[in-house]
Amino acid sequence: MESYNSFKVAQQQVLEAARILNLDEATVDLLIFPQREFKFTLNVKMDNGASRIFHGYRIQYNQARGPAKGGIRFHPEETVDTIRALASWMTWKTAVVDLPLGGGKGGVKCNPKELSISELERLSRAYVRAISPMIGIDKDVPAPDVYTNPQIMTWMMDEYETLVNRHHPGVMTDKPQQVGGTEGRRDATARGGVITVREACKLYGYDPHRCYAIQGFGNAGQRAALLHQEILGGGKLVAVSDSRGAIFNRDGMDPKELVTHKLTNGTVANFPGGKPLPQEELLELDVEVLYPAALENSITSENAGKIKARVICELANGPTTPEADFILNKNNVHVIPDILASAGGVTVSYFEMVQDHYSYFWEENLVHERLDKKLTKAYKTVQEAVKEKQIHPRLAAMVVGVARVAEACKLRGWV
Ligand code: NAD
Repeated sequence: MESYNSFKVAQQQVLEAARILNLDEATVDLLIFPQREFKFTLNVKMDNGASRIFHGYRIQYNQARGPAKGGIRFHPEETVDTIRALASWMTWKTAVVDLPLGGGKGGVKCNPKELSISELERLSRAYVRAISPMIGIDKDVPAPDVYTNPQIMTWMMDEYETLVNRHHPGVMTDKPQQVGGTEGRRDATARGGVITVREACKLYGYDPHRCYAIQGFGNAGQRAALLHQEILGGGKLVAVSDSRGAIFNRDGMDPKELVTHKLTNGTVANFPGGKPLPQEELLELDVEVLYPAALENSITSENAGKIKARVICELANGPTTPEADFILNKNNVHVIPDILASAGGVTVSYFEMVQDHYSYFWEENLVHERLDKKLTKAYKTVQEAVKEKQIHPRLAAMVVGVARVAEACKLRGWV
């Protein structure tokens, strides 16, 4: 299996887009590196009174189009290069959906499953104290990511507000609604992805009512399971998986029952409405739409050639390796790339910033409507680039995003 560094992959993607766009050397040099990186240690008191040191990062990749935007991961395998890659992808993602934002990402190398709630709270507050000078609604706005959640965002916002001695809810997004969160955030990523699938079906004639499968049954995966049927008016959910197992039923499974089973048992394994399936086989099923919604690098050169899905909607960040991407394109699989397919989350986070800013909150249907407009337009713009430049969809999405950021850098006189 290929092994590589996510940041090198992200840089290669920028270089490829820059070549299509004929960008000059200075612009390329600017866009293949983060503008700012912060690395720090956090000293946190554990429940037993001992101190423990954690390593934290915040990277502001590019802010030409607006304040940096991107999540914070608490993960034992966090590395600075993973965060650089994710910050780079956030930059092109916010640009593809045409949000007035840049890209950023942060993280702490830790295993939150080994921390008590009070230790997690102290770690979250320590993280914000370290990055407080560089965040704010007009500088850099973090959000949750893997192993962080709305409660953690609330502690972080509260710590920040204590430091600056005023209300500033827009400093973090994806908060609960009682403290400045927005309607429609919980399902925004999946909703955005399903909207792009709807547009693909309209444009290229895929059948939304055939079957679909979902790898990763967490926030994004569960919502996609439900919304596929709601938005597309049908479709059989034949397989789902999580880190503990996969489940299959050729006749379809009820997404609501699966969500309830997952919430009750912590896994989709042993769902009574289906049979167990080896996890890797889920990706190779004959389905119309496959939603990878777990972690990076699950579609590789080893399994890409066996994929029978007609459409892959990448809700996860970086689920496909470059070698696998090449194989999928050769086999005419319609890939809706991560920076487009999973952009619904950041779009609604942006709506949250706007609402926090003027302290007036929208009805849920308005959030859905505005999200739909943004994602539909972005999908169409990327498909136009596919046709005009005769390139594959991931490269087309990068070309759209990189072109917009490069233009903003040029207008500012940075290059
Ligand atoms: P999550 O932690 O809620 O869910 C991840 C799921 O993947 C879990 O059910 C986990 O058990 C499962 N999983 C892990 N390893 C697996 C494996 N080998 N096989 C099958 N399943 C496996 O995370 P999430 O918020 O749903 O995010 C999922 C992906 O989507 C991540 O790549 C994230 O960066 C991306 N994403 C999420 C959002 C969002 O708003 N939640 C936005 C943009 C991108």
